[in-house]
Amino acid sequence: MRAAIFNGVGKPLTVERVPDPRPGPGQVLVRVARCGICGSDLHMTEDPVFCIPEGTILGHEFAGEIVELGRGVETLSVGDRVSVVPIASCGKCAACLAGQPAACAQMQLHGGGYGEYTAVHERQCIKLPSTVGTEDGALVEPMAVGLHGVIKAEMQPGARVLVIGAGPVGLATIFWARRLGAGLIAATASSTTRAGLAAMMGADAFLNPEDSDPEASARALGGPPDIVFECVGKPGLIQRCIDHVRPRGGTVVVLGLCTGSDAIQPFEAVNKEVRIQMASFYELADFTRSVDALDRGAVEPAAMVTNEVSLDEMPEAFEKLKHRTHQCKVLVKP
Ligand SMILES: [Zn+2]
Ligand SMILES: [Zn+2]
Repeated sequence: MRAAIFNGVGKPLTVERVPDPRPGPGQVLVRVARCGICGSDLHMTEDPVFCIPEGTILGHEFAGEIVELGRGVETLSVGDRVSVVPIASCGKCAACLAGQPAACAQMQLHGGGYGEYTAVHERQCIKLPSTVGTEDGALVEPMAVGLHGVIKAEMQPGARVLVIGAGPVGLATIFWARRLGAGLIAATASSTTRAGLAAMMGADAFLNPEDSDPEASARALGGPPDIVFECVGKPGLIQRCIDHVRPRGGTVVVLGLCTGSDAIQPFEAVNKEVRIQMASFYELADFTRSVDALDRGAVEPAAMVTNEVSLDEMPEAFEKLKHRTHQCKVLVKP
């Protein structure tokens, strides 16, 4: 099969022929229909902290069709269309049995979406109903990230919400905060290009980057935010969340993946009694709920897709996303 291969930190991906993957016991072979290019994939190819071996096939936001079953697969059939939970885990520990593979001691991020085929365990597959296309199926993973963050926030109905960052994770966070009962939602980002998308997802206001200080968010929300979501992952932004969040009882949820060190001013955070909650990955239930939302007709996630590229076009599209771009979610069609 053909796949886009990782060649080492700082080097572009290349499309190569590689041996076809085979489904092991309990696994299924998925023909990848669409795979989203994720900011964390861009990070992984640029930052040695991730220790990705050369030859790895990245791509963890994918959906496709099952074309072969390994031995002992019971819950899936050839022809099923699935969105894949990209976490390999033991399947036996308490965390796995509770549907929390990210908490398994043996958890590993499972890529493979930048290739034509990949083998995954049957328990990683969430079946797509006939109402949900595989294009939308590739958006389930980023939607689940946003949902998990909103759940971690323990948001009260009517909460005032500020979302920093309007990439796919910020947009998914706005989508879920709106659906799960937020009051006013404001978003802000380094440019205003995503203001329209943020509004479509459910944001009531978009703060101009030049005018996004705590006074501006309090003005837009009718008071300082009860919850601030950090959906970017750059140094200084956790402090910015602390600056914005309401004193006493406010919550900061960090979804952004900052790989460098970052500093905060503890005095202000302590004084305000800020609850800082980190969020990573999702539970299986976050995936099924995201599929359910699409099944019930949510059209907002598909609006995030700004481009679709073939496998051959993919390495160039991937490099372009490392620089400032108007693209939001780019899907690969291997
Ligand atoms: Zn991702
Ligand atoms: Zn486990």
